[in-house]
Amino acid sequence: MQFIDTHIHLQDYKQKCATDIIEEMSKFGVQKLLCVSATEEDWEKVAILAQNNPQKIIPAFGLHPWYLDKRSKNWEKGLAEMLQKFPQALVGECGLDKLKNPEQEPQREVFIKQMELAKKFRRPLLIHAVKSFDWLGELWKKMPPKFVLHSFGGSAEQAKIAIKYGAYFSFSGGLLKSKKTLSALSEIPDDKILLETDGPYQSHVKGKESGMEELLQILQMIAEVKQEDIEKLSEQIYQNSLEFIKPW
Ligand SMILES: [Zn+2]
Repeated sequence: MQFIDTHIHLQDYKQKCATDIIEEMSKFGVQKLLCVSATEEDWEKVAILAQNNPQKIIPAFGLHPWYLDKRSKNWEKGLAEMLQKFPQALVGECGLDKLKNPEQEPQREVFIKQMELAKKFRRPLLIHAVKSFDWLGELWKKMPPKFVLHSFGGSAEQAKIAIKYGAYFSFSGGLLKSKKTLSALSEIPDDKILLETDGPYQSHVKGKESGMEELLQILQMIAEVKQEDIEKLSEQIYQNSLEFIKPW
């Protein structure tokens, strides 16, 4: 079986290092990693990782809602430059997080700007949305043609709304814990499912940094819940990932 990890922060590993992960990829059938950034500081690190591993690493540049205080005045221009320099790069991760910060601004403003850049440069958008479905409201209609709700932890009702607007859903180790999300799975068509480790952060083993073996575990869980043939589902998800990461 082949996999693409559609959300990993390679630059954030502490117990292991990025090279360990890149080395263990092939052992677990992982063909590509989508390496995402959270801050401007990350951009340079992600750029170097992508330049050094052009076949294996696809970069994504963005500003995560948790770290907006750190952003520079020129971040928008800087982000546009990164997207120009890396035609294969995606935008993210970005989004809205009401759990971490009940204030909608500046989260919303910064998110909308990244959404606009994604559309302008024709790149898929990686969205972090936590307890913020009500904030998304009219933004659904403004989404670029390809976007993913990363580490999806929502309900079946929320999934139904997102599907209407063409969302992809990526699932991480957190899925293995949440009954609510498992029940949402039945609403999500197979061709909208992606897999991710959100490494190093979302291992289902407490205190451990995510490893590549977790992609198979997440797939097994999904196949079990959907009562589908794992080989077939795995091939479908691999094709979804290839389709999703392509700029349009
Ligand atoms: Zn992340």
